[in-house]
Amino acid sequence: MRGLRKYEKQEHKKHKRHKISTLVPLVLLVFLSAFVMGCGTNKPVEQPNPEPGVSLTLATKRAQSIDSLSYDLSFTIPSNPSEPITGHEIIRFSTKDITQPLVLDFTPGADYLKSISIAGRPSHYRLVQDHIIIPTQELASEENAIDIQFRAGDASLNRNPEFMYTLFVPARAHLAFPCFDQPNLKARFSLELNIPKEWQAVSNGAETFHEAAGDQVRIRYAETQPIPTYLFAFAAGKFQVETEQRNGRWYRMFHRETDGKKVERNKKAIFDLHASSLEWLEKYTAIPYRFGKFDFVLIPSFQFGGMEHPGSIFYNAASILLDESATENQLLNRATTIAHETSHMWFGDLVTMQWFNDVWMKEVFANFMAAKIVNPAFPNVNHDLRFLVSYYPSAYAVDRTGGTHPIRQELANLDEAGSLYGNIIYDKAPIVMRQLELLLGPEELQNGLRSYLKEYQFGNATWLDLIKILNEHAKLDLNAWSHAWVEEAGRPSIQTEITGRDVSFVQSDPQSGRSLKWTEKLDVLVGPVSRMASIPVELANDRTQLKGLRAGGPAVDFILPTGGGLGYGDFTLDRETRAFLLQHLPEFKDPLTRGAAWVTLWEEMLDKRIQPMDFVSSAMTALNTEDTEQNIQLVLSDVDDAFWIFLSDAQRKDVGPKLEQVLRAGIDRSKSSTTKATYFAAYRSTVTTPEGVAFLQGVWGHKETIPGLKLAEPDEATMALELAVRSVPDAAAILEEQRGRFMNPDRKARFEFVMPALSEQQQTRDAWFDSLKDVKNRRREPWVLEGLQYLHHPLRAASSEKYIRPSLDLLVEIQRTGDIFFPTRWMNATLGGHNTRSAGDTVRKFLAEQKDYPIRLHRIILQAADDLFRAAGS
Ligand SMILES: [Zn+2]
Repeated sequence: MRGLRKYEKQEHKKHKRHKISTLVPLVLLVFLSAFVMGCGTNKPVEQPNPEPGVSLTLATKRAQSIDSLSYDLSFTIPSNPSEPITGHEIIRFSTKDITQPLVLDFTPGADYLKSISIAGRPSHYRLVQDHIIIPTQELASEENAIDIQFRAGDASLNRNPEFMYTLFVPARAHLAFPCFDQPNLKARFSLELNIPKEWQAVSNGAETFHEAAGDQVRIRYAETQPIPTYLFAFAAGKFQVETEQRNGRWYRMFHRETDGKKVERNKKAIFDLHASSLEWLEKYTAIPYRFGKFDFVLIPSFQFGGMEHPGSIFYNAASILLDESATENQLLNRATTIAHETSHMWFGDLVTMQWFNDVWMKEVFANFMAAKIVNPAFPNVNHDLRFLVSYYPSAYAVDRTGGTHPIRQELANLDEAGSLYGNIIYDKAPIVMRQLELLLGPEELQNGLRSYLKEYQFGNATWLDLIKILNEHAKLDLNAWSHAWVEEAGRPSIQTEITGRDVSFVQSDPQSGRSLKWTEKLDVLVGPVSRMASIPVELANDRTQLKGLRAGGPAVDFILPTGGGLGYGDFTLDRETRAFLLQHLPEFKDPLTRGAAWVTLWEEMLDKRIQPMDFVSSAMTALNTEDTEQNIQLVLSDVDDAFWIFLSDAQRKDVGPKLEQVLRAGIDRSKSSTTKATYFAAYRSTVTTPEGVAFLQGVWGHKETIPGLKLAEPDEATMALELAVRSVPDAAAILEEQRGRFMNPDRKARFEFVMPALSEQQQTRDAWFDSLKDVKNRRREPWVLEGLQYLHHPLRAASSEKYIRPSLDLLVEIQRTGDIFFPTRWMNATLGGHNTRSAGDTVRKFLAEQKDYPIRLHRIILQAADDLFRAAGS
């Protein structure tokens, strides 16, 4: 599975953004402690029902007893999405336990269940929330066959007027049909589909039978290899099919693109990328592709970038079929997505995690393989810098806070699986995996992975199973390494200590009473800039000496432990280095060194070892000569944050005019339109002087133009909102005019929704905020977030502080009713503009008052409040 990479303007300045923008919302079900009457006796027998969802307890029991599982499924799909899909299935299995009733998962309930029969006799099953319970006396230890007629639930079937597709990850198959919905009960699936005759269909297995009958067509698919429910998939509808051969293998691409030229332009590259990824992986793993045929489906508005169903990968069409104007970044992202999903055929599909707490593992390996496959084909991209700026700031944004958590988390029930996804999995795990390869060596890691895939193929394994195998290939104790990096939260504090000519790095555990030791490789840069040396250091103990500093060598101006972009932790530089970097950073030739230094300096500023004003001054100087787009984005995002949250009002007033000059010069100087747009976004976000605001108003009013920068409707809307929040004299008229300018009705509706949050009238803003207490008004989550960000804009913070407490009070309900990322985003939007002690106290007081508050929400609040606490000193 790969997240969609969507640039979200409002979140660019916060590293706290999540990279998946849409995930299937998971309903958090409340534990139901119901008791039922036992059958056939007068006395009530207290027997607790299984929990709603799929609990770890239930899943563990079933995995221990059930074996030789297969599903024989058939669905009849009408073209009209409001007509029911009917289904029939036979579930076959053996069981080691016939003393307990059998629990199947099925959410839709009684109205959707037509009949269940076992060995030709009707079953005396009963239904509880999310489950069907089959009595013990109907079970045999060998060869059970449960025959079920049902109507499929639509919740995970994504039904559209002309097509439908399944999306069952992480445990949504039982929303459609009865099954054992857990990753470690792999099964062979046989499928028959009855679909309208003008439709196409595709599933995991190859088509074995195809017959038209009346206005329907019946298709049967070959039985799959053992796969878990979350990887079982089919899509049906009006699709076009392209077929091509590569290296003796046929590939099929299903799509709905009407622009034939676009398909022609992209086709060759898409097939090539799949074929080369597959070939690369077969070599790397020494295991051939094991899932038979290879198809993929390009789905409009698919929830993720891609989903790795074996034999039938689903993609978001827009990230695969690119326009002629595609940037190198888009091409790189497409190649990465294809390599990522193809890597899953081994990592995730062939060997699957036992439980979704290890979902990070398959994701991190898919990313890791994708980088190896794709990066060499893009020699113009600085991949190490890209790795640094993509992962480090966002991993630190959570890992530095009191709300951080380990990469491996506990997961009691699959209906909470969505809450595992976040920066620690998506951004910290890749860094940790790169460290693992550095510590082991690439060949040892490859050999270890080959043994792991071979030993567990078609089965399941945990992270600890892998570590056990890798330990055989390792020189160091990987258990201790894994404990610190994967099973515990947080990062090491690493301090440079200089005594005479003796330089050491001293690590400590910031969490009291734990004394963890982290092992990691550093690439330390030492120098004068003109004669810089790179010295490898392996950090293992409390204190590691820097060797290789030559006596009589050049005088040392700086020691940068993060210089090569490897080290992960909270680094405290020595005083001379800190002062040197603030003065001389632009002199470093290697953009990776500059990027790594900026990341480190930002952490130093957050830890109050650098004054925010000094950081901003250095950054402004550096921007004048910085020519790498990734570094420009990194520095601008820090400057924006520092400007609004960490500078005092007086400092902001003081530095404002200079900053505007620097940003205007950046806009003028930039050669690429993307860099221009980055500078302009920073300008419109930080502009404060009357002349600067007047220029912005001129651009919005089409009186000023910026050569080389095309501003589209969303840009104009943002400008109007930025002008309004600055309370320009004709703010209301500007909003009104902007409203009239929209050609796109969706964007117009969004703007109208956000407008009251920017009103000059406090009463109007109060009413807008109050309206959010009704779930109906929170349905359009991106709209709500945009309004909240302006409501809590630093320029309006004094009047919006009163909304903080009620927003905290709503958080439990926000989690219950919203998308899985909504709680985090709600809190970020609420707290992102505040920096006063009283705002910090409001959050602290709320947390102190809560009893038995959900731990994940507690963490989300601490994550979102981190900048506020630091800025306010609370
Ligand atoms: Zn993935």
